[in-house]
Order: sequence, then C-alpha cells, then structure tokens
Amino acid sequence: MSTVLWLASNNKKKVAELQRMLAPLDCEIRTPDQLKEPFEPVEDQPDFAGNARKKAVMLAKLARGLALGDDSGLCVDVLGGRPGVLSARYGGPELDDRGRMMRLLESLRAVPPGQRNAHFTCHLCLCGADGKVLTTVEERCEGTLLEQPSGEGGFGYDPIFVPREYGTDPTRSFANLDAANKDRVSHRGKALRALVARLPKVLRG
Ligand code: IMP
Repeated sequence: MSTVLWLASNNKKKVAELQRMLAPLDCEIRTPDQLKEPFEPVEDQPDFAGNARKKAVMLAKLARGLALGDDSGLCVDVLGGRPGVLSARYGGPELDDRGRMMRLLESLRAVPPGQRNAHFTCHLCLCGADGKVLTTVEERCEGTLLEQPSGEGGFGYDPIFVPREYGTDPTRSFANLDAANKDRVSHRGKALRALVARLPKVLRG
C-alpha cells in the first residue's frame, strides 16, 4: 500500500511542481481541496521555516495524515532580502502574480544589471499525522533579476529570474526553462531532492 502524502498549499502552480517531482515515488499525493474542511492557514510567521511549519502542522492535523508544507519566496539583495516571506503578498492584496512582478521591477528601475542579485528560498517541513515535525530542509537558488519579463511558463516571479548557471541570459529565465531544467536548479527542486533522500529513514521512525 502506498504512503499518502498531503501537500499543504493552496497555490496550484506550486503544488503542480511538487506533484511532478514526487511522481516517481510510491506515494499517493493529496491536496487540501480533497478535504471536507477548508484549509486556510494565515502565513504570519517572520520566516520561511515558521510558515512552512505552520502549514504542515495545520494540514497534518486536519487530514490526520503525513503533510508537507512549503514556504518559499524571492529575496532581493538591494532590497535587504525583501519581499522574502511576503513574496505572495508583495504590493498589496489587489495585485495578481503579474502585478506583483511588475511592481517589483518598478521598484528596481534604477538598479543596474550588476546589482540585481537575488535568490529564491524554499523551506520544506514534513509533519506526521500527530502534527509532530519529522524533518525540515531549506535550500536556495541564486540568480539575477532581468529588467523586463521574459517567457510564459512557470509562475510568480519566474519571468524575471535567471538562475546563476545561466548568467544574465533572458532566454534562460525560469519562465523559459522546461520543467526538468527548472527542477534541476530550483530552490524547490533542491529542497525536495534532499527531503526525499531522507524519507526512508524518517518514515521508518
Ligand atoms: P507562499 O510560499 O505560498 O507564501 O508563496 C510563495 C510565493 O513566492 C509565490 O506566490 C511566488 O510569488 C513566489 N515564489 C516561490 N517560489 C517560486 C518559484 O519557483 N517561481 C516564482 N515565484 C516563486
């Protein structure tokens, strides 16, 4: 019988990335929309670790099952690490993904190419059915921010982020990479691979 794993996120694009990377495992992946009760975590913690933990614990208890929380965001050097944990809410609630990305570009208008370093962070927290944290992992993807969006794929800030492996080449923004290439270098890909490597030991107890 395969293990049931609940993904503690309401972000469909993020869940899709996690699902495609977990697909090779002998795991039945479930999402909050399969629950009877609503899953509405308030992401009010000061760091990625706190929010990932909050989401995983809440879903593990609601679903009475193994749950994986992901909290992630974009940290821009010249902005002192912002938007960071506020990445999903940057610029206010009226903005969508595109609006937030354009607002960020606007705030970086005067920043020259050599000073547009940034990184994505992904913190994962795996919780047992009792709400106890089993393991956590945090990884980064370093890169640079373009001056204009490039590419249609991915989500969030993908069209303006070029991972370090590809220099400042706009044709290699996250939004231009295919799934395999994004997962190979991304914060989420690195974090998930590290977590999956620990799974056999963690689940054995
Ligand atoms: P949260 O983890 O649900 O608080 O939201 C993370 C937010 O960070 C997303 O809504 C995106 O704006 C941004 N983000 C996280 N990971 C990625 C990514 O892989 N690509 C683009 N944006 C991302």
